[in-house]
Amino acid sequence: MTAPAIDIQARWERVRARLRAEIGETQYRSWVRRMTLDRVGEGLVVLSVPSVFVRDWIVSRYADRLRALWALEDASVREVSVDVAETAGGEDEAVATADEPATSNGAPRPTLVDGAMRNVSAPLDARFTFANFVVGKPNEFAHAAAHRVAESAEVTFNPLYLYGGVGLGKTHLMHAIAWHIRETAPDRRVIYLSAEAFMYQFVRALRFKDTMAFKELFRSVDVLLIDDVQFISGKESTQEEFFHTFNALVDQNRQIVISADRQPKDLDRVEERLRSRLGWGLVADLHPTDYELRLGILLARLETLAPRQPVPHRVLEFLAHRISGNVRELEGALTRLIVHANFVGRAVTLEGTQDLLRDMLRAHDRHVTVEEIQRRVAEHYNMRLADMTSDRRARAVARPRQIAMYLSKQLTQRSLPDIGRKFGGRDHTTVMHAVRKVEELRLSDVSFAEDVELLRRMLEG
Ligand code: ADP
Ligand code: MG
Repeated sequence: MTAPAIDIQARWERVRARLRAEIGETQYRSWVRRMTLDRVGEGLVVLSVPSVFVRDWIVSRYADRLRALWALEDASVREVSVDVAETAGGEDEAVATADEPATSNGAPRPTLVDGAMRNVSAPLDARFTFANFVVGKPNEFAHAAAHRVAESAEVTFNPLYLYGGVGLGKTHLMHAIAWHIRETAPDRRVIYLSAEAFMYQFVRALRFKDTMAFKELFRSVDVLLIDDVQFISGKESTQEEFFHTFNALVDQNRQIVISADRQPKDLDRVEERLRSRLGWGLVADLHPTDYELRLGILLARLETLAPRQPVPHRVLEFLAHRISGNVRELEGALTRLIVHANFVGRAVTLEGTQDLLRDMLRAHDRHVTVEEIQRRVAEHYNMRLADMTSDRRARAVARPRQIAMYLSKQLTQRSLPDIGRKFGGRDHTTVMHAVRKVEELRLSDVSFAEDVELLRRMLEG
């Protein structure tokens, strides 16, 4: 069978279009869209997908339909096979494969030193400065400590450990420290990055057999800021490396600033010596916002947004009252309000605000349940709800189940044993394993990460 390439491509387009009509847009977008035509010949069609997970999924659900639809286009097709594209890497492959990168033209392979500090440090958000940080009771201590570190050339407490819930200003304060030092002491070398990025750099160094450069680079900074350090929990080799970097910097009297969503002693699956080391300096927490702080933040934000329509004070009070907790949401609400007012060119009123933000206010009152997560995830992956709690271990059900466990941990207040119980009486270590597995896959597989993100957003709705 030798059809011109253009014909083959057109056939593939038709097969895809038919399958799309059969399975619906959501399924299509989740799975089939990621498939490309690799080759056709001798009765065999080879399709390729980015990950093992997607392949297993497609094969278990659509193999028959794909074969039938191809046969409609080309009667000689007997078999359709789905391969994992080589570039994507298998999903169960460890993140840290130590294979040599290909160097096709004999050029020196890239090293971390090439990138140097500028590339290792994550970009800083221009808005996250001390000037833009509103100080209130819940955050005054953390703010004072951060300011102190940014100001002084000497290291007074090491590390400065900032912790608090999501959206309370940890990242903002860390960027503020970095900005301040860049401005007032430009020759001090500052690296800001997330613990996730730190791990990524480390894994990359392993892969490129470049750990010496990695060590040199991180041990030659004056100020090292690592955000969201809870991320390294369970990642043993990253912890090990981090611990050494940490000690080397402390020995040389360099400043370290850490942030996390919990205090050092609550970092589970972090080695005891590292955990205790993290608490040696100054530990400062960011408390949940209170009404005054929220109002202050709204007022400050209003100035930078410069709305065309005035926003009545009682609307701000309403927002500060109703959207409690997370500053990011609060800012989101205000921005939405102003964008809308500018757009329709009508005065901002309390009634209009309640109307416009109805879903947001409702979502805020709403709590996602484990049952709801199970239902949505099962729907998304087109599996039976009963398999969320069943003993079936086929990957096509086991993986979505793990995703549901992961989301339950992320989106509800339930404990691991509690979650385990709701998944057919599984042990809490099973849930822990699921959380870890999903976190790993999110790092190594972009399409998987997108999928999980999509589900999370739907659930938070
Ligand atoms: P975290 O890192 O703790 O999750 P962020 O630092 O990313 O939170 O803060 C979330 C958003 O809220 C950012 O836009 C940040 O500028 C804003 N924010 C938080 N706290 C304050 C504050 N005290 N003053 C002004 N903006 C704040
Ligand atoms: Mg943050």
